[in-house]
Amino acid sequence: MAKILPALSEIYYRSSHRPWEDSYGMVRMTPHSWYVGDTWLGVVLIETNDGIVMIDSGIHGQMWLIFESLRKLGYDPQKDIKLVLLSHAHPDHCSGMALLQNYAHPVVYMSPFEKDWSWDMSYHTRVPERVDIVQPFTYDYLYDYKTPIEHGGFTFKVLHTPGHTPGTSSIFFEDHDDEGNVYRVGLHGGMGTNTMVDSNFTTGEEAERERKAFRAMMEGLKGMPIDITITNHAGNIKMSERMGEDKTDWRPFVDPAFWDAHIDVILAQLDQIEEETCFR
Ligand SMILES: [Zn+2]
Ligand SMILES: [Zn+2]
Repeated sequence: MAKILPALSEIYYRSSHRPWEDSYGMVRMTPHSWYVGDTWLGVVLIETNDGIVMIDSGIHGQMWLIFESLRKLGYDPQKDIKLVLLSHAHPDHCSGMALLQNYAHPVVYMSPFEKDWSWDMSYHTRVPERVDIVQPFTYDYLYDYKTPIEHGGFTFKVLHTPGHTPGTSSIFFEDHDDEGNVYRVGLHGGMGTNTMVDSNFTTGEEAERERKAFRAMMEGLKGMPIDITITNHAGNIKMSERMGEDKTDWRPFVDPAFWDAHIDVILAQLDQIEEETCFR
């Protein structure tokens, strides 16, 4: 089982137990989507013609902020959260799911490669018990990675982008502003190289193989035509640097060059990990 860096435990702990610290509240990333969370972690709320689509349920302790944000936008969280698309089954993205399901009953999609993680909590033992609260949840559908998911006037294309976890899934859709301009939007479901370090693997061969596969997947995503890169971890899109004074203004995030650039950041981290590998 993977080891976890102490620093990451601290971050988990803060987000789940002291979620008011470093909270951004709501940051609009596209005309109809919001990042709700803190400087490290958040969910995406997408306003559709038929209620809210969420990317991830978020971490357990942030659920108050998610519900509060929905109420500010004029929604009833109990009735209006219609669909949840899970990026991957790490607890920072799914430990809110049990509470969400019992309160709001959305339709839940997740990866077939992680379906056992939804009920078998042994997959979450790498996160010390004190850090987060993970309870079993259920899913309604598994991604087939071929059929787009239609909801409320939006079409969500989901790609299998494993590496960070076996079932990491990335989500793509188009959004439009009031003038009718269309923006291609992309979210990489899990870019963290924290699971690419040697201590996460049993042998050097395994580590090299998995890192090679991760690299190939990331290289393969480069060149995708994405106008706005959105995220479930604020740092991935340099949110604090790029967002304007007015957090309802999504235009600072329009940058067709950003998608490739944020992949290159990860590839550079991977280079660093490979240089430092202790199996060699
Ligand atoms: Zn993760
Ligand atoms: Zn995460």
